[in-house]
Amino acid sequence: MPVVLRTVSQVRQWRHALRRAEKLVGFVPTMGALHHGHLSLVHQSQVENDATVVLIFVNPSQFGPNEDLDAYPRTLDDDLAQLEAANVEAVFVPKVSEMYPSGITLEVSEQRGAFVEVKGCSHQLEGVTRPQFFRGVATVVCKLLNVVQPTRVYFGQKDAQQCVVIRNMVKDLLIDTEVRVLPTQREPLGLALLLRNAYLSQSTKDELKAIFQALTKGQQLWNSDQSVSGSQIVDLVKQQLTELGLKVEYVACSHPETLDDITDNVVAGSIVSTAVHVPRAKGNGTARLIDNVILQ
Ligand code: AMP
Repeated sequence: MPVVLRTVSQVRQWRHALRRAEKLVGFVPTMGALHHGHLSLVHQSQVENDATVVLIFVNPSQFGPNEDLDAYPRTLDDDLAQLEAANVEAVFVPKVSEMYPSGITLEVSEQRGAFVEVKGCSHQLEGVTRPQFFRGVATVVCKLLNVVQPTRVYFGQKDAQQCVVIRNMVKDLLIDTEVRVLPTQREPLGLALLLRNAYLSQSTKDELKAIFQALTKGQQLWNSDQSVSGSQIVDLVKQQLTELGLKVEYVACSHPETLDDITDNVVAGSIVSTAVHVPRAKGNGTARLIDNVILQ
């Protein structure tokens, strides 16, 4: 069973012992409800480090006041069983009060205390519909990196903008850790593994392989002709998604470091990303899915 650390001071003690023994520590932040996507990060951390600590913490500050923080699934027993099977050394499961000693309210205008904003790459794409999301992510990851001081920290390419925000934060705040970004794990037909997939019927999931196929078409267009413009790639992907009847929120081709929109010349490493809305299996409403590919 991994050691379950509940407080900042317990994590610091655990880390201190490993530093004295000159051990490398990998850190995998998650919000729990673990699936193979998360576990792929855990496995890589174990390959590259002497010890791995996994975070399970549903971070309130990245939720908006109208987003349902309480509805986020919490499956700690199942998560711990998966991490035990994966031979993880430690799991950090803090309370909200441990991570936010000055308290936290979801209303940004009423918040007090220290927060981290990564300007320039947090407002576009996912930031349009969730304006406080990346401020919340950067804030909690910054706190966690201060506590854990990992040799390496692991993120999934599935959340491409999050990776850019974190890389820029680590660079600008001179944080001493290596940011590792690992490939998106997918269902057999290509749909990115996401928590929200649980809300979708199998037939919808099968149809949704089209999201990855549409993105891949954009990638193929660039592979076949590197003089193609960002706008041409975006138009092709959009057309593919719309033809399949998906409600497209955005398709973008973005610079890999700044996330600036690339309409003209594409640079290697550019991110082609999309968010679409699809009907849920049960009840009304839609699920929002995101995915991306890298042009390389
Ligand atoms: P979350 O618990 O959703 O905050 O995710 C924790 C970490 O797992 C993030 O770095 C995600 O990008 C990563 N992750 C989630 N789903 C996948 C996936 N399908 N493939 C790779 N990484 C993933």
